[in-house]
Amino acid sequence: MPRRWLFADQLGPHFLDERTQPVLLVESKAVFRRHVFHRQKAHLILSALRHRAAELGDQAIFVRGETYGQALRQVGEPLEVCHPTSRRALEFVRGLDTVTVLPARGYVTSLADFADWADGRRGALRMEAFYRFAREHHRVLMDGPGPAGGRWSFETENRDPPPKDGRLDVPAPAMPAEDDIDAEVRADLDRWAREGIRFTGRDGPRRFPATTGEARSRLRHFLRHRLTAFGRYEDAMLSTDPWLAHSTLSSSFNLGLLDPMAAVRGAERAYRRREAPLAAVEGFVRQMLGWRDYIWHTYWYFERGWRDSNELGARRSLPDWWRDLDAESVDARCLRDALAGVRDRGWVHHSPRLMVLGNYALQRGWRPSELVEWFHTRFVDGYDWAMTGNVVGLSQYADLGRMTTKPYVAGGAYINRMSDYCGGCRYDPRQRLGADACPFTAGYWAFLAGNRDRIPANARMARAMKQLALLGDLDAVVAQEARRGSDPP
Ligand code: SF4
Repeated sequence: MPRRWLFADQLGPHFLDERTQPVLLVESKAVFRRHVFHRQKAHLILSALRHRAAELGDQAIFVRGETYGQALRQVGEPLEVCHPTSRRALEFVRGLDTVTVLPARGYVTSLADFADWADGRRGALRMEAFYRFAREHHRVLMDGPGPAGGRWSFETENRDPPPKDGRLDVPAPAMPAEDDIDAEVRADLDRWAREGIRFTGRDGPRRFPATTGEARSRLRHFLRHRLTAFGRYEDAMLSTDPWLAHSTLSSSFNLGLLDPMAAVRGAERAYRRREAPLAAVEGFVRQMLGWRDYIWHTYWYFERGWRDSNELGARRSLPDWWRDLDAESVDARCLRDALAGVRDRGWVHHSPRLMVLGNYALQRGWRPSELVEWFHTRFVDGYDWAMTGNVVGLSQYADLGRMTTKPYVAGGAYINRMSDYCGGCRYDPRQRLGADACPFTAGYWAFLAGNRDRIPANARMARAMKQLALLGDLDAVVAQEARRGSDPP
């Protein structure tokens, strides 16, 4: 059986054909010279790779080198590799004579099935349509020919604000126990930093699984204790609880530690056994089988240049306080907390990403391609494939709607409704002008004013555009936001 080369995001048993298959693992230092990674992300990747090497023992050749090319020269035998997860890595492995590239693993729908589905459609490739196809194709949450419960999506039941007392009655995920491998990783990263490799963010205890065992244990805990509350509070934000009822498994799926289909089946079982309500289970399945796969597939299906889309003409570079995760320089409470979460954990859940960080960047006209790189390198679950669609297609509307029917832009009223941030903030979410003006509210109107010709004239935007036309102080708001520029709010 040929030796299987596993990249550092292909670490679970489902990337092997047999449990005893010979394996090659490569730790390349050059990757850490190319990007400025969050320290905890670098730690997680190295820890996961080294844990896998230790698990496999003599079954694996584990090469630590500067580049993949150098490492491969030490291995004089033919290799197989599953389709890598970035265009750069795919080009590299396709250019190697001794390496056979196999179909991708680690996603529910195959690239070929997605292409068949997409080729047969006219118009935009919407997630909702793909999600229905995937549910039917893989027979997930189906009762006969129709969806369980008679509806494909329970999204309208997944939008509750956080509870008034600021507490979700769910146990927090257990944190992994660090071991000797983590201690070695920490010492190596300290040394690399002294040698000149740059990291960002704060170091801290490892909070995310580095082995399949740790990831399965977190998944079991989530399905048993947290899934029920997940759906309802999916979009809520709380200053006192960064985890809420989220699975906190995105980094585990993206490292390849967990098979997403096993998680989908586990969630469906919880519904069939009446251990979790359908609205929660469907919400989780929509994230896994729908959104995650959709983002993966569009990365490959859309043309290469899509990553550089900038149809709103956003020209500003990311400011240093943002790049350096300098939360202390920010007064706006929601933004300060989101940025501090990235600095301290390399992770915040999807609402702070989309409705605070992404929303703020969109309003300020920051370059989408720089944001892709920022989300890729600052988040423990960030990868080029994952952040291209989420940033270019969704949060920055940089392709004018290939993935979404309207920009994800919102003012302070939305953040006020969905979080507990505004009460303790020096700004007022209702104000758009003056010293107390909420930067999100003012930024919202300034964004709409600056992009009115490029925003779709559809029903979802009609009310906002009508209100915009009635604002008597719009010029002053736009001037105020131009003065604010990219300074920390
Ligand atoms: Fe954020 Fe504005 Fe609310 Fe302050 S008032 S927390 S800046 S939305």
